[in-house]
Amino acid sequence: MKTQYKFMNIAAVIVTGIVTLALLANMVILGKYAPVTGAVLTALNTTVILAVFAIIYMSFVVYRICSGRMPKGRSLKISLIVFSVLFPLVTSIGKLLNVNKNEIRRIFVHLNNSYIYSQKYSLNGEDIMLLSPHCIQKSFCNFKVTYDVSNCKRCGKCSIDRFLSLREKYGVKVFVATGGTLARKIIIENRPKAVVAIACERDLTSGIQEVVKIPVLGVYNERPSGPCFNTEVNIENVENAIKFFMGVD
Ligand code: SF4
Repeated sequence: MKTQYKFMNIAAVIVTGIVTLALLANMVILGKYAPVTGAVLTALNTTVILAVFAIIYMSFVVYRICSGRMPKGRSLKISLIVFSVLFPLVTSIGKLLNVNKNEIRRIFVHLNNSYIYSQKYSLNGEDIMLLSPHCIQKSFCNFKVTYDVSNCKRCGKCSIDRFLSLREKYGVKVFVATGGTLARKIIIENRPKAVVAIACERDLTSGIQEVVKIPVLGVYNERPSGPCFNTEVNIENVENAIKFFMGVD
């Protein structure tokens, strides 16, 4: 089944669950607390109607994106916020429906990237951070690039060498992080205006959700040797993300 249909199933389960709970709550309140029903029921039902509307709206936007039709501006932003808030619920229900967690994470990253790409930027290279996971460095390499990426001797055997070429070409800041904690620290200390983050589905999802005030474009790493080991990345995708933030065609 295509991802968008699986996602619609998840959204339908959530909406059904919310409506069922609301109906039960209405029955309990009407039955037991008749004198105070007015305001309580109005607040409850308004919240439920808004939540259901937001989920249906988000599902519609996700369906369009997965079908290759790109919605614009505010609808993307609203959907991104709703998806972010509901993410734990969506993944839990996805698990019950046997939907791979990474498929749901990919929808979230896709939604995020689509929203960023619907905006316009014209940043200087030095305001853009290229953030890579440590596993992209070859395991046999002994140079400590997490401390300073300039320690790379540029043998060309891993993508770090290509990142340094992008730094020379565009002036972007390049960092290699060993995990989410260090990545957060690097972002806080360097205060970039935009981030091009390379990572797996899990790390990109958590990173994008945590860095709320800075636009983050996610680029997946490739794992030909399995997760977290000698990973790779399509350097063209990374360069295109940098050029987008610089407003360069
Ligand atoms: S390109 Fe740099 S980091 Fe990668 S293996 Fe060679 S020396 Fe090490």
